[in-house]
Amino acid sequence: MPNTLSPKEEIKRAADIVQVIGQYVQLKKAGKNFMGLCPFHAEKSPSFTVSPDRQMFHCFGCKKGGDVFDFWMAYHGVPFPEALKDLADRYNIPIKEAFSSGEEKERGRIRETLFKINEIAAQYFQEALGQSGGNPAVDYLKKRALSQEIISEFRLGYAPDAWDGLTNFLKSRRIDSQMAAQAGLIIPKKGGGYYDRFRGRVMFPIFNLKGQVIGFGGRVLNDALPKYLNTPETLLFHKGEFPYGLHASYKAIRERGVTVIVEGYMDLLALRKHGLQEVVATLGTALTHDHIRKIKGYAGEAIVVFDSDEAGRVAALRSLPLFLNEGLSARAVVLPHGHDPDSFVNKNGLPPFLALLEKGAPLFDFFLDQKLTGGGNSIEGKVTVLKEILPILAQLQNRAQRSLYAGRLSERIGIKEDVILSELKAAAAGLSEGGLQKNLRERGAAFEAKQRIGDVQLLNLLVHHPMAVTGLVETDCWKLLSDATTSRIIEKMFENYRKEGRFSLERLEESLENEEVRIRFREALVAESIYSDQEVKQAVREIEEKVCQTRLTNSIKAAGGDPKALNRVLLELKERDARSH
Ligand SMILES: [Zn+2]
Repeated sequence: MPNTLSPKEEIKRAADIVQVIGQYVQLKKAGKNFMGLCPFHAEKSPSFTVSPDRQMFHCFGCKKGGDVFDFWMAYHGVPFPEALKDLADRYNIPIKEAFSSGEEKERGRIRETLFKINEIAAQYFQEALGQSGGNPAVDYLKKRALSQEIISEFRLGYAPDAWDGLTNFLKSRRIDSQMAAQAGLIIPKKGGGYYDRFRGRVMFPIFNLKGQVIGFGGRVLNDALPKYLNTPETLLFHKGEFPYGLHASYKAIRERGVTVIVEGYMDLLALRKHGLQEVVATLGTALTHDHIRKIKGYAGEAIVVFDSDEAGRVAALRSLPLFLNEGLSARAVVLPHGHDPDSFVNKNGLPPFLALLEKGAPLFDFFLDQKLTGGGNSIEGKVTVLKEILPILAQLQNRAQRSLYAGRLSERIGIKEDVILSELKAAAAGLSEGGLQKNLRERGAAFEAKQRIGDVQLLNLLVHHPMAVTGLVETDCWKLLSDATTSRIIEKMFENYRKEGRFSLERLEESLENEEVRIRFREALVAESIYSDQEVKQAVREIEEKVCQTRLTNSIKAAGGDPKALNRVLLELKERDARSH
């Protein structure tokens, strides 16, 4: 029998969406769905919903949603052809056709080429490390006490101290120089030709979650500046998007339930060499929302290890609002003076480092400590601290958490708790006035909706009990809805049904023309069914009734004083009564 499924459909059948998303987001069963913290927006309570029945996801917070391909594209930031290929590879499904626009195909082709060039460059740097010219880099890595296993696992290399080493190598491999420049590896010269971006540096490939090389960091071997040079922004590399090392650490992070966050390549590599697996690095940039969203998919807690210098202290203070906003609980560890994780663990071994992690203070307490020492203990100092921290706390959605922090704040700075709480209330009110009104409006609307068979109910009925479509398709009941978005979905439903004599939800989604309509449709799909199977008939009857009544009212209105027209209306009414008895 010929296989009639398209690769896309075949992949959708093979790749269970709960399993695919579950690799990146911690999901908990909730009714017939799974819920988790959304990887696409900041949230502290889960509104990210995955439906195994529908094989789709939807976030009630940021409204992102769709099928397994939509997730893959959004999460990995890749275009459709690449998502198709990734999932096809993973489930061993051969793909023959491409399903994308010319522009998408072109972008996919360029990305594929850039990955290939990065891979060739990574191999070139790795090989250079083994050659005699690579010796200064070998010496450096030896001095930093890295093992051969770590060097191979993270594919460290050496960019020889020459202007045209990689440039010539890529040419010999027939790589288009313009594309290599687009990968950020070589730079066009003013007078024509190209030169190497990375020269005389130890090279660290930077990986995405799939383990592909998206860029490089290069460290000098002497005191030249800049100490670290990174790939510039390219189609593949966006600074601050992925924490370094997550592709290798995520399994350990999930097992341990905690992520240790350090700053540099060498910190991470040294810790891994000593046996700490659950670690990622921010690579000298401050922590970003993207980092935390990726991390929190794997573990509920983070321990951030800061260097003891001023920059480390500032970074620690800056990260508090990020963690509070993203709802990831975090502790802070500051290393003894003059140490970074690399030097500490190489000098003392892993157990004392683990002991430090164990003693890490909650980030909030750490924040207060840092603010209050260094002049913050004067009255003016306390007021400054209060001013800084209240807006951060006011953003906390969880009231219990808020009052807990208020209590601790009161203890620490010696201001009465009720004073702090009322200040906090004022700050929170300032933030959420708009939000509160919106909430009341929405609740009012929901109450009204319950009083009649309205937009929400009708859509829910049709989506969860498709046989109801058969009963209602002749009524044009969508015309009676007050909400244009919902009425458009139902109109389309009926249209498809009439055209094909049957009804497919999947087809329907594809035929919806804009995102707003698709969002409403997804929300109805993942929602619980309002009506039980037994209640469907009754609900259909009520809707028919309502449609008839409305038609009648309209006919009477239209008839005006015309007795003949009124007569027709009465006849119609009689006929209907006869039918329904
Ligand atoms: Zn979201």
